[in-house]
Formats: sequence, structure tokens, C-alpha cells
Amino acid sequence: MIRLSINIFRNEDLSYPIYIGNKIFDNLKEEVNRLTPSHIVIITDSIISSLHLNYVIKNIQEWNIPVSTIVIPSGEKFKDRKTKEYIENEMFKLNIDRKGLIIGFGGGVVGDISGFVAATYLRGINFILVPTTLLSMVDSSIGGKVGIDTPYGKNTIGAFHQPKAVIIDVSFLDTLPEVQFRNGLVEIIKHSIIRDRELFEFLSQNKGSIISKNYESLVKVIEWSCRIKKEVVEKDEKETGLRKILNFGHTIGHAIETMSNYKVLHGFAVSVGMSVESLISRNIGILSDEDYVSILKILEDYQLPTNLRDIKYKLNDKDIIKLIELMKGDKKSIKFNINMSLPRTIGEMVETFTLTVEPQQIIEAIKSVN
Ligand code: NAD
Ligand code: ZN
Repeated sequence: MIRLSINIFRNEDLSYPIYIGNKIFDNLKEEVNRLTPSHIVIITDSIISSLHLNYVIKNIQEWNIPVSTIVIPSGEKFKDRKTKEYIENEMFKLNIDRKGLIIGFGGGVVGDISGFVAATYLRGINFILVPTTLLSMVDSSIGGKVGIDTPYGKNTIGAFHQPKAVIIDVSFLDTLPEVQFRNGLVEIIKHSIIRDRELFEFLSQNKGSIISKNYESLVKVIEWSCRIKKEVVEKDEKETGLRKILNFGHTIGHAIETMSNYKVLHGFAVSVGMSVESLISRNIGILSDEDYVSILKILEDYQLPTNLRDIKYKLNDKDIIKLIELMKGDKKSIKFNINMSLPRTIGEMVETFTLTVEPQQIIEAIKSVN
């Protein structure tokens, strides 16, 4: 078992531990006991509940703390206001008071919505995350962003609310479908490119054991990846500078996701995004040919898409213009200039965190992967 400690703003109250290992219920128990909750509310989704809930409940029931479960349907489309209201109503019916503790048990959808309920229920109660997808283990569990989607966009209502602990048990990944597993690998590869060449090399050399979900390798890369996100987030909680580098691959990735009406999975859209943004970086003379080729190779080695054909998605000229318009609305854009976080070499991003890229450069790069 590995223990990382996250210290947001170097503020003791906002710091929390992340445990990473195999079967780490003792750590969950220890963290729960520390908080002395009046009631535990496990929030999970229908798929995880059918696979893993009995096992979790059986353990928690032995702790002599009242425990209830709220199950929401699985899927991004339920990360909305209606589901939030449903969870809150259930919690009121259960008389959960300010000492109640939410355990968000599931992927990023469950984590984001349960964290957001925790942020606003009775003006804020404690929550702990037990992530069950690779993506939620290495990405959404760190940094305290919680929220929901609206018809006006993804994550358009939310808050910053840090969990009290994150318990990462890699054995939950046994049941995770392969596509979802690869979806999460994208963020790990991203973390290596933006910050750590050594991790990049480890990933390149240990593909077999990672793909086959060898626990030891998984614990190692998850810990490594969490450490990278943690270091970035600790330095810049509210994304005013350094944290922007986490958006590598996401300017183009988000636009592809939106254009496809979210049919393309986030990780796969970001994988294409990293491939195109690396190409842009190479074309404008920032990234070397050699590093560009290595980035493409690692994505291909992990069977991740590097061009639009791989995701069965072809864009005509009109679509490309639309894609550019979408990017102008990206959160990093200023006065309609498209700003991207581009790699300088593997392991380092451009020092200014983002760079303005001419639409023509983007169009050219997209056409070459279309
Ligand atoms: P998800 O929560 O929808 O999970 C994907 C699918 O896998 C779901 O069908 C789920 O039921 C199923 N599943 C989960 N764990 C399983 C397991 N162990 N075995 C079998 N099936 C399992 O998706 P996700 O990719 O984990 O998260 C995506 C969400 O995370 C998005 O809403 C995104 O906005 C959010 N996110 C948030 C942050 C943040 O900083 N807060 C960062 C990245 C992503
Ligand atoms: Zn992402």
C-alpha cells in the first residue's frame, strides 16, 4: 500500500491522503473513523452496485456506523441537476445531518456528482472517494473539481470541494471493460508527456504488464500519475497558470467530443487531441521530430487513436471550421484567440503554459489526420 498526501494551498484543513493498493479496506475504515460520522451514505451507480456493492457494504456494516446507499443510473447523461436533486431528497429523507459522510463509490461521474452534493448539502459535508475506473483513479479524484452537466455544457455548474481521503483499490479494475481501461490510460500517458519523461519510458517499456492489469505495475503507474497531477494541482489549485498544462490534448479533444455529440469517449478524443497538438508543436518548430514520433508510437502501442479514422470520424471542410469555432469557446481562449498547452519535449511543456495558435496551423494539422 502506498500513501500520498495532497496538500492544497499548503492548508492543513484542505490536505488529504490518497491510498493506493490492492484491497485497502483497512485504510478506508481508518479514514472514516477519523471523521466520526453520524451516518455513511454510499453513492454509486447501477453497474458498480451490481458488481461490487455487496462486498463493500458487508465490510462497512461491521463498523457500527449507520450506513445507507443511494444508487443512480450509470452514464454521463445522469450527471445532471435532476440526479443531484434526487440524491439530495434521498439524503433529507434519511435525515442526514452535517456530520453525515458521503462515500462516492464509482467512476468520474459518481465522483463528480457526489462531491458536488457534498459541497452544497447543508452548506457542505465531508466526502471520501473510492474510484473504480482508471480515469477516476488518476484524474478526477485529484484536485477537488466537482460538478454536473447542464444542457449548456459539460461541468457548467460546480465547485471546488476537496475530499477528506481517496482510497484507490486496483482490484476494482478487474471488472472494468477494456475500452474504459484504455480511456483512463490516455490521462496517464498525458501526465508523462507534460511532466515526466521517466514515466513515459516506463510506460513504453512495460506495456504488457500494464495492459494485462498486473497489480504491481498498476499501483506503480497510478501512484506515479497521481503524484504528477498532485504536484501540478498543489501549485495552482484554481488553474491560473501551471494547471493549464493538464489541458494538453484537450483543446482539440474537447472540440471533437462536442462535435461527436459525446459519442467519442473523452480519453479517445484526447488521444487524437494529443496527436494533433503534438503535430502542431512540431510544425511550429517547438517539438522535435523524434519526440513527435515517440508520442505517436506510445499511443499506437496502447492501441489508442491518433487520427480521426481510428475513431471512425471524418470531418469535411465545414466541420473543420465548426471545430475551430468550438475551440474559440474553449476556457483557455482569450478574445477568440485559441490557446493551447503544447509540449516542448517529452516531459516538459512550453514555459508560458499556453501558446496562441493560428487557426491555419490547426486546420493543416487536422487535415493531415482526417
Ligand atoms: P464513468 O463514471 O461514467 O464510468 C464509465 C463506465 O464504467 C460507467 O458505465 C460505469 O458504470 C462503469 N464502471 C465504473 N467502474 C467500473 C468497474 N470497476 N467495473 C465495471 N464497470 C465500471 O466515467 P469515467 O470515465 O470514470 O469518468 C468520466 C467523468 O469524469 C466525466 O463526467 C468527466 O467530466 C469527469 N472528470 C472529472 C474530472 C475532475 O477533475 N473532477 C477530471 C476528469 C474527468
Ligand atoms: Zn481529460
